[in-house]
Amino acid sequence: MKNDYFNAYFQVDMPVVINNYNKVKAHIGANTDIIPVIKGNCYGFGLIPMAKLFAQDCGAKLIADAAMYEAVTLRQAGLTCDILVVGGIPQHLLHGAVEYDLQIPLFEAVTARHIDRLAAAAGKKIRVHIKLNTGMNRLGVKAGKQLENLLDLVKSLGHIEVVGAYTHFATSTADFYDPFAVEQFTQFQEGVHQIQDAGFSLQYIHCCNSAATAWYQEAIDYSTHVRSCTSILGHMAMEDGREPLGLVEPVEIGTYITNIHQIDAGESVGYSRAFMAEQPMTVATLSLGFADGFYPGWMRRQGPVLVNGHRTRFLGCCMDQSFIDVTDIPCKIGDKAILVGKSGDQQITTWEIEQFCENTFEFLYGTIGQRVERIYKWT
Ligand SMILES: *Cc1c(COP(=O)(O)O)cnc(C)c1O
Repeated sequence: MKNDYFNAYFQVDMPVVINNYNKVKAHIGANTDIIPVIKGNCYGFGLIPMAKLFAQDCGAKLIADAAMYEAVTLRQAGLTCDILVVGGIPQHLLHGAVEYDLQIPLFEAVTARHIDRLAAAAGKKIRVHIKLNTGMNRLGVKAGKQLENLLDLVKSLGHIEVVGAYTHFATSTADFYDPFAVEQFTQFQEGVHQIQDAGFSLQYIHCCNSAATAWYQEAIDYSTHVRSCTSILGHMAMEDGREPLGLVEPVEIGTYITNIHQIDAGESVGYSRAFMAEQPMTVATLSLGFADGFYPGWMRRQGPVLVNGHRTRFLGCCMDQSFIDVTDIPCKIGDKAILVGKSGDQQITTWEIEQFCENTFEFLYGTIGQRVERIYKWT
């Protein structure tokens, strides 16, 4: 049964996302392709609709997720493209990779032996990408002796097919040619050469995230793929707001005014009397709160909001409702309030909210919950 009684919405302009995808594709050139990484409910944009957009409308052949849960959800939703899980996988879930034909990272012997047994029992081969640890120190095997031992083990097992190699930058968002990123890329190349010298041919070689994709041409050219997504979704690639590819914001987040009232100087608003009015004000109540997955500081620190083409501010936030200042702003109960997006000639961008909240896109959107309608706009 469909329930579309939503208090708030998160709207994605799909043609804008497609255009962003194509801009990134044009930037990386014809010899490199994109692996969209759609983890965390695709950064709050919605896992299944965004996966379908990337696979069916953008032409992505391989999509990456962080967790088996997400990958299996996509298979159950009918997605047939190749799927790679890039995050660490609990051992007791590894059989899902065999059952649902998922590609997984490989970087140590326990998992290698385990998946080989699982694949053998199913009469299948399991496709892996060797994850190289070049300095992130999260997952991965180091080039040299560690890698040699792993490759020897894989050769001795019959049901593992090495199809790729990848690594992940720890610092690529800070600056172009960040020395640590350059060092990681050097180590990545050593690892890839070692894998190839051991006789494995690699269909997928990938190291660039969104930020590195924006500046690291040498790494792009060396790779078969880039793993990018946040920039395609309109998040600035670099920490300082540089976004060299001209990608466009596809998001609008809005909610509704449920009450408007006048308060006098000395009156307070909300729990603990957190906001105190110093002069008479008009306050509107909105139908959105932190239980919708919004970062409370966005509202509690009096972040910006748009009403009928006017820019104003939040006054506070409860679990399901929040307050804004609408003094001298023409508005009525039922009107929209825009948290991100355009209203008249005013605009609030994702980047502005990230700066305001001192938090990144992943934090701010990745937690937005089920009570917020996801709208996919095509025109
Ligand atoms: C999240 C993630 C990406 C995508 O990076 P963005 O720069 O946020 O698009 C790529 N690779 C791995 C391993 C990731 O975890």
